[in-house]
Amino acid sequence: MPVPDPDRIVFFDGEYKRHGDVHLGLLTHALLYGTGCFDGLRGYWNADREQLYLLQVKAHYERLHQSSKILGLDCAFAVEELIEATIELVRRNELKEDCYVRSLVFKSGEGFGVPFADVATSTALSVLPMGKYLDTDRGIRCKVSTWIRVSDAAIPVRAKVTGVYVNSHLAKNEATDAGFDEAIMLDSTGHVSEGPGENLFMKRGDVWITPPPYADILEGVTRKMLLELIPTLGCEVLERPIDRTELYICDELLLCGTGAEITPVLDVDGRPVGAGKIGDSTRAIQDLYFKIARGDDPRYAHWLTRA
Ligand code: PMP
Repeated sequence: MPVPDPDRIVFFDGEYKRHGDVHLGLLTHALLYGTGCFDGLRGYWNADREQLYLLQVKAHYERLHQSSKILGLDCAFAVEELIEATIELVRRNELKEDCYVRSLVFKSGEGFGVPFADVATSTALSVLPMGKYLDTDRGIRCKVSTWIRVSDAAIPVRAKVTGVYVNSHLAKNEATDAGFDEAIMLDSTGHVSEGPGENLFMKRGDVWITPPPYADILEGVTRKMLLELIPTLGCEVLERPIDRTELYICDELLLCGTGAEITPVLDVDGRPVGAGKIGDSTRAIQDLYFKIARGDDPRYAHWLTRA
């Protein structure tokens, strides 16, 4: 995982500062009550072209705005301003490698009570070099979590609210403590929802299936890309509820997300997925995704922003 560097430059409320020079109080509202929204996007370095490409930067900042709206936070910067600030951050940090951009809109003022109308809101962007989050090359083993995904009726997962990630943390920890790589969470109706930081796609026969938004998922940017890409690879793709036991008998399974990219799942609860190896269709999706991300597929150049 990326480690924060105190000398790296961050964007904080319109100013560019050293990471180590940003200080927040002990009673920061977002720290006490989880009142922040965040997003994350990747930059892919193309060494041949000496070019960094930001993947789906606009979609990520539009979602940050949507998350803020759901939570009642005012993001002081328009999507275009956030994009410009990100490009400037990459330049100031002289990043020439794969990286991750973390954006955060949060209640940065101090306050003891839960109401936050009078508490200051801040917007921050940080950039970190980042390689793989999960083992996309070899695939991973997953455990269906005993922790249920937070319901939209409780805390909207559709908004990337910082506090929601307690739910993700519990599931991830339970899975890794039990010797697995990642968790798969069920929604409150018992259907498959998503991973702690990833959406899920399952292949049965020639059809890829992914849980619908009402399965309490985050509406992932990568998920949206796959809904568009999979049909171009000759497979049908459906959004429909998935039962837990379908995970035990499906042919291929993958988790996807900005961090997870396209991660093949080889085993669920000790049962091999298909032949227990990375499937051909998963490989094809991965190959296309990485080609696009590094700027090597002109058909999808509109998903990239040069930085
Ligand atoms: N679900 C959750 C809970 C996540 O945190 C993420 C990562 N942002 C995803 C799905 C995948 O979303 P995206 O493809 O937009 O990164």
